[in-house]
Amino acid sequence: MDLPFSESYKIKMVENIHRSSRQEREVWIKEASYNLFNLKSSQVYIDLLTDSGTGAMSDKQWSEMMLGDESYAGASSYYKMKKAIQEITGFEYFLPTHQGRAAENVLFSALIKEGDIIPGNTHFDTTKGHIEFRRAHAIDCTIDEAFNTTLDYPFKGNIDIDKLEKVLKSHPKEKIPLIVVTVTCNSSGGQPVSMANMKAVREVADKCGIRVFFDSARFAENAYFIKLKEKGFTDKSIREIVREMFSYADGMTMSSKKDAIVNMGGFIGLRDKELFEKASTFNILFEGFISYGGMSGRDMNALAQGLYEGTDFNYLETRINQVAYLGQKLKDNGIPVQYPFGGHAIYVDAKRFLPHFPVEEYVAQTLAVELYLEGGIRGVEIGTLLADRDPDTGKNRFPELELVRLTIPRRVYTNNHMDYIAAALINVYERRSDIKRGFKIKKEAPILRHFTVELERVKQR
Ligand SMILES: *Cc1c(COP(=O)(O)O)cnc(C)c1O
Repeated sequence: MDLPFSESYKIKMVENIHRSSRQEREVWIKEASYNLFNLKSSQVYIDLLTDSGTGAMSDKQWSEMMLGDESYAGASSYYKMKKAIQEITGFEYFLPTHQGRAAENVLFSALIKEGDIIPGNTHFDTTKGHIEFRRAHAIDCTIDEAFNTTLDYPFKGNIDIDKLEKVLKSHPKEKIPLIVVTVTCNSSGGQPVSMANMKAVREVADKCGIRVFFDSARFAENAYFIKLKEKGFTDKSIREIVREMFSYADGMTMSSKKDAIVNMGGFIGLRDKELFEKASTFNILFEGFISYGGMSGRDMNALAQGLYEGTDFNYLETRINQVAYLGQKLKDNGIPVQYPFGGHAIYVDAKRFLPHFPVEEYVAQTLAVELYLEGGIRGVEIGTLLADRDPDTGKNRFPELELVRLTIPRRVYTNNHMDYIAAALINVYERRSDIKRGFKIKKEAPILRHFTVELERVKQR
C-alpha cells in the first residue's frame, strides 16, 4: 500500500475552541448585523476569515522570541533577520516594517508620484490603496484565463505580456516607476505566477529601464507551485526556486504575516543602495529606526526563523495539500469552487452555488452567513459588499465573481476540521433551493464598507 500523505509536524500546545449551537449562532449573527467581521472570535468555531497573522508559530520560533534583542539600534535580532533575508531572497538591503502595507507605504513614498502608472497582476487591496492614495493608477494586466473559475490553467497569476507591453508603450518611462508582480496573486485566488512569466516581465522591463518589484506575501507557496507544475523545476529545491524568482526583481515588499508564519511583521528587500537610502528616510519617519522599523527584537527573531520554516518543502507540502484536500472534497461533492485550487484558500463560487438568487441581495454574503449558521465557520465575502459603490454614481458595483473565501490559517487546523467544513458546506448545498432570503444594507461606510456594514434580512418573497 502506498503510504498516505500526513502532516510534517506534531502538536505541542493546543487552544480550545467552542462548538456552539445553531440557536446561539442565530442570535449572535443577528446581533452582528449579519456581518461576520462583527462576530467575536469566541462565537466562531472554525475561523477562515484570513490566513494573515493567524498561523501557529513553531517551538523554534517561540524559542527565538526569548532570544530577542530589544536594543534600539544594531540589535542582534536585526542582523538575524538581515541574514535570513539575504540567504533566502538574495536581496542585499532590507528595511523592517510592522506589516506588508507599511512596506508598501515606505517604498511607494520613495518611488510613486501623482499621475504615475503602476502595471501588475491584480494588485492587492492595500497595494492599490497606497497607489491610489498618491493619485497614481494601478493597471491590471493579469491574463484573461484568471477570470474563468473553472478553466484548468496552472499559472492563473501570470501577467499578460502583451497587455503589459501596451501599457509600457503608451506612457512615458518617467510615469512608470515600477511594475508590481504579486506572488501568489491573492486577488485572483492565491494563483501562482510561473518562473517563465517572471522572466518575461523582467525582459520587457529591462527594455524600457523600469523597475520590477514583487509583492511577496506568499512567495514560498508560489515557489512550491513552480516546483510542482512548471517544467524544469521538479528537481530544484524550494530555496533554489525562490532565489531564481527574486533574481528577476529589483526588490520586494513582504507581509510576513503570511509565508513567514508570524502574527505581525513585514519588510522591504532591495538591491539598489540609493533607493535603500531614500526609503530609509521614510522608514524612520513612519515605522521606526531602520534596525527595527516597527518590530520588536523578539518579533524579528521569530520572523527570521519563520522564513526558513516557510520555505521548507515538507511544510509547504503539508500546507498546500491541506488546502487542496478541502478543495477536492468540495469539488467531489459538486460544490462549485475555483479550480485549480489556490495556495492559501478555497473560493466558493456563490453565483453557481445559488443560481436562482438575486445578486442585489448579496449572494456571496448570504452564502457566508448560511455557512456560519450551519457550522460556526467564518469565511469572508469577496463580492458586491467588498466591491463598494461606484464613487461617481453611488450605485452598487456588481463584480463578475461573487465568492466566499475559505482561507486556511497555517499549521492551525487539522484535516478533521477540513472534513467538518466540507460537511457543513455540503449540508448547505443540499438545502440550497430553500435559501431564499438575502440582505439589504442598513448602514454602511463610504469606502471599505465590508468591514463595518450592517445588514438586515429582506422580506420573504
Ligand atoms: C496581506 C497582503 C498585503 C498587505 O499586508 P499586511 O501585512 O496585511 O499589511 C499586501 N499584499 C498581499 C498580496 C497580501 O496578501
